[in-house]
Amino acid sequence: MPAIAKVTVDRGGDKTFDYRIPAELAGAVRVGSRVTVPFGRARRTGYVVGLADRSERGDLKAVAALADREPFVGEGILKLARWMADYYGAPLERAVRTVLPGVVRRRGKQYRQRLHVRCAGGPAPESGGRLSEKQKAVLDALEARGGGLFLQELTDALGISDAPVKALARKGLVRIGPEPLARTPAGARTILPTRPLKLMREQEAALEAICTCIDGQAGRPRASAAAVTAPGQAGSGGHVVLLYGVTGSGKTEVYLQAIGHVLERGQGAIVLVPEISLTPQTVERFRARFGDRIAVLHSHLSEGERHDEWHRIRDGKAPIVVGARSAVFAPVRNPGLIVVDEEHEGTYKQDEAPRYHARDVAVMRGRMEGCAVVLGSATPSLESWHNASTGKYRLAVLPHRADNRTMPPVRVVDMRVARSAGRASLFSRELLDAIRQRLDRAEQVILFLNRRGFATSLVCPKCGEVLRCDRCSVSYTYHRSRERMVCHICGGTRRVPARCPGCGDPAFRYAGAGTQRLESALAKCFPQARLARMDADSTAGKDAYHRILGDVRTGTVDILIGTQMIAKGLHFPNVTLVGVVYADLSLHLPDFRAGERTFQLLAQVAGRAGRGEMPGEVIVQTYTPFHPAVQAARRLDYEGFCAEELAFRRELDYPPFTHLVNVGFKGKSENTVAYCASLFAKKLQAALGEKARVSEGAPAPLARAKGAYRYQVMARAASGVGLTRTVRDVLAGLKLPRAVTVAVDVDAVSLL
Ligand code: ADP
Ligand code: ZN
Repeated sequence: MPAIAKVTVDRGGDKTFDYRIPAELAGAVRVGSRVTVPFGRARRTGYVVGLADRSERGDLKAVAALADREPFVGEGILKLARWMADYYGAPLERAVRTVLPGVVRRRGKQYRQRLHVRCAGGPAPESGGRLSEKQKAVLDALEARGGGLFLQELTDALGISDAPVKALARKGLVRIGPEPLARTPAGARTILPTRPLKLMREQEAALEAICTCIDGQAGRPRASAAAVTAPGQAGSGGHVVLLYGVTGSGKTEVYLQAIGHVLERGQGAIVLVPEISLTPQTVERFRARFGDRIAVLHSHLSEGERHDEWHRIRDGKAPIVVGARSAVFAPVRNPGLIVVDEEHEGTYKQDEAPRYHARDVAVMRGRMEGCAVVLGSATPSLESWHNASTGKYRLAVLPHRADNRTMPPVRVVDMRVARSAGRASLFSRELLDAIRQRLDRAEQVILFLNRRGFATSLVCPKCGEVLRCDRCSVSYTYHRSRERMVCHICGGTRRVPARCPGCGDPAFRYAGAGTQRLESALAKCFPQARLARMDADSTAGKDAYHRILGDVRTGTVDILIGTQMIAKGLHFPNVTLVGVVYADLSLHLPDFRAGERTFQLLAQVAGRAGRGEMPGEVIVQTYTPFHPAVQAARRLDYEGFCAEELAFRRELDYPPFTHLVNVGFKGKSENTVAYCASLFAKKLQAALGEKARVSEGAPAPLARAKGAYRYQVMARAASGVGLTRTVRDVLAGLKLPRAVTVAVDVDAVSLL
């Protein structure tokens, strides 16, 4: 029986600590147990993340007490964590941390009784002059968080004592007390309940396929924890349905009714949506059908809210969870269905260890817990499409919009023609005319440009100098609202230079365009039009996002300009024109998935047009009109695109025909980093032999970030699990210098 418990301790940092398991607790302390341990001179709460027979340290303290008889983390979730550690080549500690939200891990139930602070809504402005800096900071923090904060959280975040908060309370500006109950993130808004719609024939068929799957899976877990396999491996995906349905085809209604079926069986469900489309619109549709049986998990929750939602789920009060990536680990009891909406989205991949893909974890969890999984998309990833066409997943198709409206026609405008005619403008004549038409008819327009800021870069017309961040190998982006150059990698800023730092020429020019430039150019062309811009800069405040969307809905905005934030999920009946200002932006990324991304983006954007009574139209401006991805998007021909793209992938041994592991090396010394990468590449190729392709160690496309040099080695092989193991073994054998950080990314989705 293991004698040592490895424990992560509340406020103990990223490390785990070894504790002796005393005889009276032998066998009772398990992985997942919540324990009390001596720490310094105090006692703290911790979680057992591993057990061992011996420790490297001699003088160990003993576990003081076991907090609950049953482990805090369920057996199923722990199994999943173990699989994740193995499959993604990450330490088990990291995997266990990932499945338990920090706030739950650290505080346990005591969190509930802690003091809570919120704005009292009293008259602030006039007395504002007499507030101290710290008091103002407190009010700002509370305002940004809306629902209030725990006192401890607040003082920790601002690095202050509680005196300024108490002073504010005396002035009547904040209220300190027990936390208001029922902090459901929906707030006080009332939502009208909906009933299931009568389904169309294809929806009916899709629902039936899913329900068959749910009924057939129940209580039949298939995988043992010992067998580490890839999510889409042969014979392992019978519980998965790929729901391929064009935008507006009624996928969500199918999810809702499938969840209804699951509830009738007394089971729970998880719905994953990309963080970016976790809009109130989406959440409301679920809440309108299922009321407070829904728990919502997303990154804007305060710690208190997150804690409450997690416990509502674990206690069975909320059998349905809607959330972003990490909601795949929600402690839902007896799950019958996991839905992954927009399954092709790259944001499902976590970018720190364990670098898991929530879609694949969902498939695996479904397999382990005997529950059905639905992957939904208008543009499924090639991996999922391939799995469906080879019969590993079941396929359900919704080929038409639910309202039988046709998809909008897509017009491709060749910008090379406009340029050669001497009009090097952001807008083609076609797009300008179309916008004017819509404004005349009081219809709305969405313009899409996937780059924020004003200009991409500052270029000297004389010597060609481009202003770059010295810590990252990218050019600065000019942000006009802040009058500064901003690095989009490290966030660093600098003043706009008056003359070229290279040759001293004062004619420094802005090149390229971002959403801010688009906005000001539009304001010149259409001075009467009411514009709104939606990107990471304009939505920094908590409510800005909702406010802008609200303005579009109520018609106080004529033209909405935005980055990928507006590409999906939005449903505005009065939008009849969608313009893609520069489609090539994603095409030229040095990544074999560039074509797939571009197609997906164009198809998603197109789906925003003509969702109401009036027919819609899409205009795509591009300098490469004959690129296959652009052409396929013009015809909105997903299957044609897949066929062409899959042939290319097969030829070059890219996923989904191989598994891909990307190993990144990072450090301050370029020589050392380059040496480590190429040594690793050689050893890995030798260990894998002929059956794998290993690239040479080369600078990553983003060659320098935050002052560190980046190199990478990309390896591809038929067996993902074998590949990951070999990568891990070779790395372990190398004994790399500590100054070089290594990141292993299994099934990498971004190669930048
Ligand atoms: P998707 O999720 O595929 O983008 P939605 O579920 O949002 O599609 O459906 C688009 C619109 O069609 C919504 O307004 C929805 O209420 C409506 N709709 C869906 N299914 C039906 C149906 N069976 N009958 C009538 N309207 C439907
Ligand atoms: Zn930088």
